[in-house]
Amino acid sequence: MRVIYLMGLLYLAAMLLLWAGRLGRLSRRTAAVLSVFCLLAGSGALAAAVFPKGNSYGPTVTRLADLPSGDRTVKITDKAMLQRHIALTFDDGPYPPYTDRLLDVLKDKQAHVTFFVVASQAQRYPELVRRMLAEGHTVGLHAFRHRDFLKLTAEEKEKDLALGKKALKDITGKEPEFWRPPHGFRDPSVMQAAAAHGLCVVNWSAIPRDWTGIDKQEIYNRVMDKAEEGAIVLLHDGDSPFYRASRQATVDAVSPVIDSLREKGYHLVSLEEYRAKRAESSGR
Ligand SMILES: [Zn+2]
Repeated sequence: MRVIYLMGLLYLAAMLLLWAGRLGRLSRRTAAVLSVFCLLAGSGALAAAVFPKGNSYGPTVTRLADLPSGDRTVKITDKAMLQRHIALTFDDGPYPPYTDRLLDVLKDKQAHVTFFVVASQAQRYPELVRRMLAEGHTVGLHAFRHRDFLKLTAEEKEKDLALGKKALKDITGKEPEFWRPPHGFRDPSVMQAAAAHGLCVVNWSAIPRDWTGIDKQEIYNRVMDKAEEGAIVLLHDGDSPFYRASRQATVDAVSPVIDSLREKGYHLVSLEEYRAKRAESSGR
């Protein structure tokens, strides 16, 4: 049950108990004690809904250091090799012409990123997904259809992930390994669905909110503000679910962002590239 419904039920129960006390169905004292108990429990449920504990649902990658090492057991022996890395990630594509333009910029800068694609969009523009891979980017799954997974039944979650994985495998020849839930929303059942599909859940450490209509300068400022060792930055090349908004500001911000990050000594990496580098630096 969603914890917010539980809160509603407990508050309602408190009201009913007080009412029963007034009508004399319960002693006033019992009614008061029970309703205070319900109010406290309801407030606990409210607090749990408003302040969900970060990773209490299970392992979620929000920084590069959290990435599991795939099929290898990696011990990092050369930490210097792993310093100053940042991963830019782009959600909700592919979405022409912005994804094409973004890929052009990345190619020009020889920088690798990670795309979390909407698989139903990928089916419409498979050539863009193949281009991402051919140019060295990591392709992760965002969803088959971009929906709030917290509102889906277990069966719907399972079906969406299965469809999404299959769609990407049909296009690229390989199953996605990384998954970013739509809006980053997680709960125990979302994590369970991911685990059942062997997907590594990846959210972010920096969220410049590039979808809110801010201009390229503001996007640049926000990314640079949040730039730090191991950061995973959430940006958007798509506009799910309607695909109406322009993503030009994001595309335009990426080139100066890459230049400035490099000036500060950062390496731009895709998730797979970072992991490969880490494995290499451990001498395996
Ligand atoms: Zn999204």
